[in-house]
Amino acid sequence: MGNPRYANGALRRKYRARFRAMGCPCGICQGRLGPIHYDEPSDAQHPLSFVIDEIRPVSRWREFGYDSPRAAAEDWSNLQPAHYWCNAQKSNHTGDAPVVSVKNHFIRDGRW
Ligand SMILES: [Zn+2]
Repeated sequence: MGNPRYANGALRRKYRARFRAMGCPCGICQGRLGPIHYDEPSDAQHPLSFVIDEIRPVSRWREFGYDSPRAAAEDWSNLQPAHYWCNAQKSNHTGDAPVVSVKNHFIRDGRW
């Protein structure tokens, strides 16, 4: 059984391109660490490089009503851009803290 995140590489690349075009700040730190380095490769050598973060962890797909891990990994509303570093920190803490989607954040915060 492969990693569901990479089951559909073409879709994944499309999502990456869309996030890059939007230029959103990191959904985990809300941009506190600075802008995402969208042009860097996603790896530990560039802690602020761009990765796609699953808001609801793919490993808990049943809990969130998805049909499969792949469905969770491919649901646009379940994805947000994040720094490599923030994503790694979140994984270490198994996602106990509620994570606010950057997309929802923009809708909710109407003060500016
Ligand atoms: Zn971040």
